[in-house]
Amino acid sequence: MAVIILKDKKFGVSITAKEIDAAIRKVSDQINRDYEGKNILFLPILNGSFMFTADLLRKIRIPCQVTFVKYASYSGISTTTQVTELIGINESVASRHVVILEDIVDTGITMDLVLNELKKFHPADVRIACMFHKPEAFVKSFKIDYLGMNIPNEFVVGFGLDYDGYGRNYADVYRLVK
Ligand code: 5GP
Ligand code: MG
Repeated sequence: MAVIILKDKKFGVSITAKEIDAAIRKVSDQINRDYEGKNILFLPILNGSFMFTADLLRKIRIPCQVTFVKYASYSGISTTTQVTELIGINESVASRHVVILEDIVDTGITMDLVLNELKKFHPADVRIACMFHKPEAFVKSFKIDYLGMNIPNEFVVGFGLDYDGYGRNYADVYRLVK
């Protein structure tokens, strides 16, 4: 499907499922290599990361557990600086090798707050695995340890990413068509 319509907006294919799969393969290879002999606690951030999580975890060969967390920070097509408390983080994080899974890091404001919140629970260490990143919009300084791919600073949907709740179900990623 080259063009999709979500509510009042038109979107065209920008990244294919095949390209996404290759990027996830690369990320899973790196994680499988880096965490050999360890045990991982994956912390995917809902809602957007559900598809990245499902695809990535099927390629992980390290003993691991998964616990989903959630916050709300985004409405419509522009990012907000308001991030509510993380839901679902608890003591089980203490002394664990945590890998946060995120669909996209845009300004980085959300992830920065997540990192600060996580520290309170005393994990052994924390790394970030993220499917997409917009370096042009990034205003923070944390390192993205495992990155699927950089993308231009434009609004995208699909592969878990939504426009007003719609579009998460598509295997490809789409950009807004003006
Ligand atoms: P940040 O705090 O890094 O600016 O934004 C983080 C959140 O904004 C992401 O987890 C994601 O939910 C949302 N976001 C950022 N860019 C996009 C985009 O291009 N499309 C969609 N659908 N969501 C985005
Ligand atoms: Mg997200």
